[in-house]
Amino acid sequence: MTGRSIRVRGLVQGVGFRPYVWRLANELGLNGWVRNDGAGVSIAVGGKKLAEFLERLPNEAPRLARVDGIKVLEAEVSESGFAILESVAGDISTAIGPDAAICPECIADICDPNNRRWRYAFTTCTHCGPRYTVSRRIPYDRAQTSLAAFPLCPPCGAEYSAAVDRRFHAETTCCPDCGPQLSLLDAAGTQMLGDPVAETLRLLRDGKIVAIKGLGGFHLACDARDAVAIAELRERKQREEKPLAVMALNAASLQDYARIGPVELVLLKSAAAPIVLCPKAETQLSGIAPGLAWLGVMLPATPLHLLLWHEAAGQPAGTDWLAQPNDLLLVMTSANPHGEPLVIDNDEAVERLTGIADAFLLHDREIVVRCDDSVVRAGPAFIRRARGYVPLPIPLASGGPSVLALGGFLKNTVCVMKGREAFLSQHIGGLDNAAAIGFLEETVAHLLAILDVKPDLIAHDLHPDFASTHLALRLADEWGIPALAVGHHHAHIAAICAEHGVNEPVIGLAIDGVGLGPDGGLWGGELLRVDGNDCQRLGHLKTLALPGGDRAAREPWRMAVSALYGAGMEYRIGGWLKQYYPKRDAAPLLIMLSRNLRCPPTSSLGRWFDAAAGLLGLRDEAQYEGQAAMELEGLAARHGPVEPVVGGYRLSDQHELDFSPMLLALLACPDAALGAAQFHATVAAGLAEWLIAAVDREKVAKIVVGGGCAMNAVLMSALSRQLKAAGLTQFEAQQAPPNDGGLALGQAWLARRSFRSQ
Ligand code: ZN
Ligand code: ZN
Ligand code: FE
Repeated sequence: MTGRSIRVRGLVQGVGFRPYVWRLANELGLNGWVRNDGAGVSIAVGGKKLAEFLERLPNEAPRLARVDGIKVLEAEVSESGFAILESVAGDISTAIGPDAAICPECIADICDPNNRRWRYAFTTCTHCGPRYTVSRRIPYDRAQTSLAAFPLCPPCGAEYSAAVDRRFHAETTCCPDCGPQLSLLDAAGTQMLGDPVAETLRLLRDGKIVAIKGLGGFHLACDARDAVAIAELRERKQREEKPLAVMALNAASLQDYARIGPVELVLLKSAAAPIVLCPKAETQLSGIAPGLAWLGVMLPATPLHLLLWHEAAGQPAGTDWLAQPNDLLLVMTSANPHGEPLVIDNDEAVERLTGIADAFLLHDREIVVRCDDSVVRAGPAFIRRARGYVPLPIPLASGGPSVLALGGFLKNTVCVMKGREAFLSQHIGGLDNAAAIGFLEETVAHLLAILDVKPDLIAHDLHPDFASTHLALRLADEWGIPALAVGHHHAHIAAICAEHGVNEPVIGLAIDGVGLGPDGGLWGGELLRVDGNDCQRLGHLKTLALPGGDRAAREPWRMAVSALYGAGMEYRIGGWLKQYYPKRDAAPLLIMLSRNLRCPPTSSLGRWFDAAAGLLGLRDEAQYEGQAAMELEGLAARHGPVEPVVGGYRLSDQHELDFSPMLLALLACPDAALGAAQFHATVAAGLAEWLIAAVDREKVAKIVVGGGCAMNAVLMSALSRQLKAAGLTQFEAQQAPPNDGGLALGQAWLARRSFRSQ
């Protein structure tokens, strides 16, 4: 009988692909077999409904599978019936996948009172559950995960070895008889009586703050409608104004608070289950995201989280309740006291969260590696890439030596390049404390272990004093391999070239906070010509003085004074200051500026945003990095697009772009929202003209825009409109964050190029 031999490539192992093929073949009455091998999955199949099989095979694949290619050849198929064959030994892809949200089938299991996993908080299968955060090393196999401590009971063992079961080789499967258990401790660390889920819900309803162990670390949870609880959480966490994320059962439960469009909904319901930034709706949740136009929301992604809502709904049987609005809204914020890395360990939780949490919802499944929630925005664009995405590789256009890149300082990540793939680590955070530096080292070791890589090269930031640079140099020395220093803004542009496979010269626009330039200056608004390892500075923004250095970055009013002074409008400072910040005294600042004392210049666009926010009276002091710029963006978004201010910028010799002329318009602007919108429009227009002129002059057709300011959606959409009108498009960061969270990717890409040209 003539049939087909089929080869399937992609992420098709460890995701329930073989049972899926088996079910599909049996449904269609086909004969043959399926098995894993070194290249993916191989299938032999014959029978009447062969055409339908071939059509459905890629389209109905399991949710965690990614089919990259299917090759079909004619073949003889002599089998009767359809079988799952033994894998070809020693030839199996051993990749570890990212953590995935609970799948619909497992939800049905835990909501079925007759199922042995009824209300079981650790239910998983091959379509869902933790992977990355429970894996110590490859291969992806139960013995290498933190589930190794829980030997399978006979019924679980039977499912694990039944080729047709959804839990066939589900490495983290377990049940109430053999798997991890929940416990609830009070603030003093004493075990509380009663059902841990029901008690946790009672405490949350009662206004208490509960530390809940999640997939990649602990969350601090409280009732998102309880303004007192939220104020208490902020007070205890010393997190005065940073936005908090909210978890709700479904989009229907959020409709008063957030505008969830179709793109946002797909992201929310994806297996990665990130925090999605959605435009706020009419009703404000008090104290959640003060001053911002966006609300970060996520849906319950683990059985444990889901059980809190199941409890709130009265423990219903079946799954109908999942579609109903549910009034339980929880703040879920990372438990990372003092900006240090996430808490992951039970004892550590009780110790480090003392005085913050009123109770601890724990379990005995160990978290092997910490991994924060990812934050994305429709686009889609990453703001933070972590749980649910790591360690999915970013595909590259070509292969090369293995590289480890250590990243920068803020929002740090590291990157390993291996073959034609780049593996960006989870968000590590700012390397300004010993714990974060420890986490950096852990992440490097873990990533190299799960990828089985020995680097040929190391890349790091140009800054000699970053902990990431120190570690890079130490490892290069230990391993006897070369280390390459990469400029901050060069790396921002290179990261985008890497993910888009752009190998030709580009005009790069790096718009950012402050980063060290190769000339030792504080860069951050740079027009570059990047040709692989060659990076030429074509121009920069007019520099602003930073009176008091870093302090100026935290106090937008200082940047406003500096911008006015720099534009020769010193005479306007007094009146303006009296109007917006009567308690502030500009005199000491003016002395510093006039004598050029502790006033380093920076070409950073981020500081221009601070100056504009300060000028419009938004705030004199920022509580966290980027706050003033985010508020400015929020105001502009709410106002809607406007025309740029005529003559609002100056472009001298195409080299220096100056927004000083805009300052007068802002001073005269009666309405902060209008001013914010005008500022965005004018900055976009200036940047567009700058880019268009550079494209003409340099005879380079491709434009790349990166850096932290590229996360500003209002700015970026205005910029692309302007470029489009000139017949140009820009490459942007899509698979990695455009901010410093993507630096390591660019560093690694450049290290490879330098290796090649050596
Ligand atoms: Zn599942
Ligand atoms: Zn079991
Ligand atoms: Fe940067």
